[in-house]
Amino acid sequence: MAVGKDILTTLSALVDRDITLMHICGTHEAAIARAGLRSVLPEGLRIVMGPGCPVCITPQGEIDAALDLVERGCTVATYGDLLRVPGSTGSLESSGGDVRVVQGVHKAVEIAKREPDREVVFISVGFETTAPTVAATILSRPPENFSILSCHRLVPPAMAWLLARGEAALEGFILPGHVCTVMGYEEYERFGVPQVVAGFEPEDILLGLLMAVRQVREGICRVENAYPRAVSREGNVKAKRLMYEVFEPFDVEWRGFPVIPASGLRLKQEFEGYDAQKKHDVAIRHVDKHSACICDKVLRGVARPSDCRLFGKACTPRTPVGPCMVSHEGACKIWHLYESRRASSPPLR
Ligand code: SF4
Repeated sequence: MAVGKDILTTLSALVDRDITLMHICGTHEAAIARAGLRSVLPEGLRIVMGPGCPVCITPQGEIDAALDLVERGCTVATYGDLLRVPGSTGSLESSGGDVRVVQGVHKAVEIAKREPDREVVFISVGFETTAPTVAATILSRPPENFSILSCHRLVPPAMAWLLARGEAALEGFILPGHVCTVMGYEEYERFGVPQVVAGFEPEDILLGLLMAVRQVREGICRVENAYPRAVSREGNVKAKRLMYEVFEPFDVEWRGFPVIPASGLRLKQEFEGYDAQKKHDVAIRHVDKHSACICDKVLRGVARPSDCRLFGKACTPRTPVGPCMVSHEGACKIWHLYESRRASSPPLR
């Protein structure tokens, strides 16, 4: 990683005070942890993960709504990551109902076609990366026994909330490469902080960090693109059009956050026949937190997984207490995985 070494040398010369940057992507967190990047960064440079795991930011009220659908006899089709996320009365895995793991919305539609007597509901979780595919599926007019519980979220409104709150003293963002592949980075230009779109190789991330730190040190606030092989300013125009043809933004709660204006995606009225909430009369309620889990703080970038007193003790990937230990994009699971791997590796000589 010769390029990486050069970047690290330049970074070290630039960082002579504390600087906190946030990334909003589980894949970035996994890449950072896998490569051990935090251990080689200059001491003052702090990289925190924000609300970048779509399963983790899905609030308990939406998990409870999915459980409610199971209770009503629906076949619930979901990504495997969501299966073990605890709701108020257990998880989808422990519900004892007809819950099936699918790799995507198209697989859920196949179940609905194969089993026309069943009501099939797809738990549609994800950011702007997955919403266009779901939109295309809805536009293809799947069978009437198919619907979705839309749990989609949009990244920029959460960034706006974090900046307005100022809780984590953020000086810049590493923007999510996958989301920006679809959405471009035009809409991030309204934020007056340093931002860099970064890819997922260790060198991509280091380059993104260097570009962001340079902006911080020079007092510049703009969006730069360190991932031009995949991301353009305008993004995938067709995918964006599809998404907004089917969905509309609405105010919604995130786990760890209050209701954030225009941060969720719900089906437009003309597609409400596919809206599981309306079709099955299921409500999504706010649920107060009663456990010692600090996922809320982890998702806002004000605590690290290792700050949680349950981390690696009462809470492990086998016995998850919060969603951040369930999803493969969750910070707690990622930290647990790579910390335990490091602990079992022989020391480097
Ligand atoms: Fe929640 Fe477990 Fe993470 Fe603690 S270690 S914040 S309990 S998911």
